[in-house]
Amino acid sequence: MRIHILQATRKVAGRSNKDTNGSYGTLNDFGSSFTSRILMAIKSRKMNFPELAPAYVIAILKSQGHEVTYGENSVNPDADITLLQSSLVHLKEECRWAAELKSLYPMMRVGFFSGASDPLSDELLRVADFVVVGEIENALMSQDIADFDGKVVAGWVNDLDSLVFPDWGHVGNRISYRLMGGSREKRMAPMLASRGCPMSCRHYCTYPWTQGKQQRKRSISNIVAEMCHLKERYEINLVLFRDPIFTLDMERAKAFCRELIKAKIDIQYIIETHTRFMDDELIALLSRSGCIAVQFGIESGNADVMEKSSRKSGSFAKQERVIEQCENHGIRVLALFMLAYFDDNEETVNQTIDYAIKLNPYGAQFTVATPYPGTPWYDELKHDNQRFQLSENHDDYTQYKLVYQHPSLSSEKVETLKNQAYKRFYYRLSYFQKHHSPAILRSGTG
Ligand code: SF4
Repeated sequence: MRIHILQATRKVAGRSNKDTNGSYGTLNDFGSSFTSRILMAIKSRKMNFPELAPAYVIAILKSQGHEVTYGENSVNPDADITLLQSSLVHLKEECRWAAELKSLYPMMRVGFFSGASDPLSDELLRVADFVVVGEIENALMSQDIADFDGKVVAGWVNDLDSLVFPDWGHVGNRISYRLMGGSREKRMAPMLASRGCPMSCRHYCTYPWTQGKQQRKRSISNIVAEMCHLKERYEINLVLFRDPIFTLDMERAKAFCRELIKAKIDIQYIIETHTRFMDDELIALLSRSGCIAVQFGIESGNADVMEKSSRKSGSFAKQERVIEQCENHGIRVLALFMLAYFDDNEETVNQTIDYAIKLNPYGAQFTVATPYPGTPWYDELKHDNQRFQLSENHDDYTQYKLVYQHPSLSSEKVETLKNQAYKRFYYRLSYFQKHHSPAILRSGTG
C-alpha cells in the first residue's frame, strides 16, 4: 500500500515538538520580553529536533513492504492511507487537514496516531476514519493497517527490543543541531531507551498515562546497537534520550555507560532524569561514556508546593550537590522548573526563580503547570469547571500558558512572572561569568 505520513502544524513563533509532554506536544513560548524572544529564537533555530513517533511508524511500515512518503503540511494525493500524528498544540490544524483530505480524496483512508489520542479520540474520529489509541507500533505489528477502523486500541509494546530502529530518511537538515554556545554543528536524533514512568506526579503529568505507570526497558545491547546504527547510517553524533527518567534504574544506567565505553562508537548524548536517581559513580560514568548534558526535573523551589502536588524531587541539598558534581565532570545541566502549580502564589513562584538563580545551571526552563486531558488533575478541575473555567481552546495548551482560573494567580500575573523568570535567570553577570566567559574569569561565580 502507499501510505503518507502527514505532519500537520500551525504556524508558530517558537519551537514546537509533538513528541514532548507525553505526546500532547509543547510550543516554546518563553514570553514577550527581549530576553525571552532571544532565547526562543535560539531554541527554534539551534535546538530543534525531529519527532521520533513518525520515524518508528515509517520504519515498521517500510519493513512490511509498504511504500511510505512523508510531508510537513503537504499531501500525497496518490496515497491509499494518510496518517497524521495527533497532538494538543496543533490539534485544530491536524483536524483541518484530515477534514480537507476526506473531502478532496473520498477514497483515501485518513487516520490519527499518538500516545495522546485517547482523550481526544471522539474529536478526531469526527474527521478521520480511524484513531490509534496507545502505541501505534503495537497495532502495526499485530494487525493489518488496511483493517484499521474507528477506535483502534493498540495497547503498549511490551518487548521494546522487538521494534525495528526508527527510520530518519525523511528529516533532512532538521537533524542538524548546534548546542547553545557551541561552535560544532551536531547531527542529533532522539531515542527512547525506556518508556513509562511510575512516579507519583502522575496526578498532573501526562507520561504515566500515555506510556504506562511501569517502566519498560530495552536491553542495553539493543540501545547501543541503535546508537551504532545512527552513527553509521545517518552520521549522527549526538543522541537525545527522551526517556521520562533515564537513570530510574541506576544500576542499569551504569551498565549502559560501561557498555558504551566498551563499544567506542564516539557518540555523545543527553539525558533527562531526577537528581534523586544519581550518585557520584553514575555521574563519573555518564561523563566518561559521552553524556554531555543532563536535564533535571527540579520543578519548584518550595517544598510545600511540591508536596501538595504529589511531586517528590528529593532534598534541595542533594539537588545542589548532584548539579555541582555534574558540572565538575563537564556535564552541562539544564534545570526544568514549573511555575504556577495549583498551590503556588506570587511569593512561592519567586522562591522558585530565586532557587534557579542559586543553582545557576547552564540552562533553565520555566514552564507553566498545565492540567492536561487524561490526567486526574484535569478531571478534578473539570468537575468544578464553573469555578476553574478550563480553556476550551486547544491552542492554549502549550505548557507555557495558564489555561484555567488559578486560585491565586491571574493569567497576566503568570505571564509577567514567566517573563521575569527568564530575564532574571539569564540576564545576570554571574550567569555569563560561569557559563560564557573564558575560564580565567570564572572563579567565584555561583
Ligand atoms: S517523574 Fe513525574 S513529571 Fe517526570 S515523567 Fe514521571 S510522572 Fe512525569
